[in-house]
Amino acid sequence: MLRGYRGIWNAPLEKLGIRTIRDLLFFFPRDYECTGELVDLSELEAESEVTVVGEIADTRTGRTRYGKSIYSINVDCEDVQVKATWFNMRFLKDKFQAGDRVVLSGVAKPKANRWEMTHPRISIVDEDTEVQGSEVLPVYRLSQGISQPALRKLVKTAVDDYVEQLDEVLPELIRTQKGIGSIQEAIRGIHHPETLEDLEHHRLRFVYQELLVLQLALALRRWHHSISHKAPQLETDARIHSRITARFPFELTAAQQRVVQDICDDMARDEPMNRLLQGDVGSGKTVVAEYAMLLSVAHGHQAVLMAPTEILAQQHYHTLQEDLKNSRVNIGILTGSMKAAERREVLEGLASGDIDLLIGTHSVANDEVEFKSLALVVIDEQHKFGVRQRMAVRNNGLNPHYLVMSATPIPRTIAMGMFADLDISTIRQGPDHQQPVNTYLGDPEEREKWWEFYRGKLREGRQGYVIASTVERGTREDRLSVEEIYQGLADRILSDFRIGMVHGKMSPADKAETMARFHAHELDVLVATSVIEVGVNVPNASLMTIEDAQQFGLAQLHQLRGRVRRGHHTGYVCVFGNPANAEAETRLQSFVDTLDGFELAEIDFELRGPGDLFGTKQHGMPPLRVADLRRDRAIVELARDDAQALLESDPGLQGTQFVKLRKQVLRRYGRVLDVGDVG
Ligand code: ADP
Ligand code: MG
Repeated sequence: MLRGYRGIWNAPLEKLGIRTIRDLLFFFPRDYECTGELVDLSELEAESEVTVVGEIADTRTGRTRYGKSIYSINVDCEDVQVKATWFNMRFLKDKFQAGDRVVLSGVAKPKANRWEMTHPRISIVDEDTEVQGSEVLPVYRLSQGISQPALRKLVKTAVDDYVEQLDEVLPELIRTQKGIGSIQEAIRGIHHPETLEDLEHHRLRFVYQELLVLQLALALRRWHHSISHKAPQLETDARIHSRITARFPFELTAAQQRVVQDICDDMARDEPMNRLLQGDVGSGKTVVAEYAMLLSVAHGHQAVLMAPTEILAQQHYHTLQEDLKNSRVNIGILTGSMKAAERREVLEGLASGDIDLLIGTHSVANDEVEFKSLALVVIDEQHKFGVRQRMAVRNNGLNPHYLVMSATPIPRTIAMGMFADLDISTIRQGPDHQQPVNTYLGDPEEREKWWEFYRGKLREGRQGYVIASTVERGTREDRLSVEEIYQGLADRILSDFRIGMVHGKMSPADKAETMARFHAHELDVLVATSVIEVGVNVPNASLMTIEDAQQFGLAQLHQLRGRVRRGHHTGYVCVFGNPANAEAETRLQSFVDTLDGFELAEIDFELRGPGDLFGTKQHGMPPLRVADLRRDRAIVELARDDAQALLESDPGLQGTQFVKLRKQVLRRYGRVLDVGDVG
């Protein structure tokens, strides 16, 4: 523990999250500045970044023509004079006076008979101070009311006075193995590195520590759950298998069989399955979920499938009803728009066990729905929920198995970094009938040509989507609203066809009705925002125009494209957009060039980093402070391996050499990951 909490906290520091000296020590710079080399100006010829020392000859204040205040000083450096100038920095005025010895760092520009520096860093030094050039200075995040120099000084004092009291979290063994120095060295080095290489060395220590703590937390959660949560053991045999598969209108593909096998292995154990199934849109995840649900029912238990939207829930409900026609399996549906009486009936059915399978929207998770005996929770399109979601179900003491499904593949590094506690199954190859899609980058000059083609396909009997990026125009002049696009098409471009519109501002009933009409081919064209991104399945639709495509992320574009990949017709997608920067341009080009969702996920990761793709923030996972999953991916792997090795030799991390490490894991992740009472 750190002693000496006196009087450092005040409002500006509080705003930065600094309450204790420890916080101050761990308030890492957001960046660094290198001061130029210490030079003798008489030997310098061209403009460059330098550090100089001299004595102030005079100071002056004034105003520019436009009313900015100017403060300037002349400094004698040996036999050369430097004029330093600051604009709108009135507070400097009283700080310096003629005769002060100062250090200036910044860019020096030659002017007639002297040098000039604008906004150099400046500090007063006494005669005895030996001035250093080429320093690496920390740059901290600031808040209103505290300046960079003040914060630097504060941190420096804290480091000088208190760093010795810091506890070492990493056990000796690991430090020796990895060639990691003491925490004292590292803290000093991260705030006041001698060189940039030095800095990188210290940064890596904290990256490693942070990732190791995360990996330990994930592994501990897994271990903890495996010993404290009991799930029903649901074994599969040939009879059950053939009874289930007989219900499907098609043979399972090899990939589906493999995933089904993974799931059967999991569910046969008495610890809860915690599996992510990832596969492109249209790769056939639903039937795998159905298999797992029917396996639960075969053992006399219940299962629930949660979908992110009401449309999707309805769709799953119909698929299941179709497949389970004339069976004894009883299916219920629970959505937000149901009447109270219907709802009550469903809840009763779940509690009594009359309902075997429940399909619902995520509101199911928030209600404390009571099940007689729930064995399986399936969460569809999991990225819409956030991964860590758990249901608040009441369930007679058993813990259900979990299967989450996602059409947004998780890049390898993130899977390893953030989801090491999940088992992952992947469907890379969808059912054979999946059509290729031709994707084009629309040339604005040749819009008419695309629409000509689009109309031609509509006349052949196909249907099409037109995607808008926004419901309301608002202040954004550069994008068209769904309404504007709809009008333009209805009035002119597609005036011969039947057009409908869906967007998020419509009532669920209106949305559902329009979707149903599109489904029944009473509409040729559906103008929509990305509400149709997830799950809509109209096999006859093979055309898609995406407007203002720069507004969409790669994963989203790819999901949208999945809508025209579902039937027996070749799909055609044309994206129009004005990419504002190189990243957006690469994004659109990659989308056009690549049809593989996994490859796109990796490209997206390269382009944008991890972001918060998977809703971890929403569910309380603290953000990484030092590590960057993209930059530090090699260390992610290292930390995972090390965490596994540590826990293999000491499953609960109970050894005395791990006390501090374990404390840190619990402090940071105990609550979110529900590993609070490990051991
Ligand atoms: P997603 O992974 O996007 O949820 P779905 O489960 O909705 O994909 O499947 C997409 C389409 O492929 C559906 O129409 C489904 O009936 C069909 N399908 C799934 N598996 C097979 C299969 N093994 N053989 C033929 N068609 C299949
Ligand atoms: Mg699906």
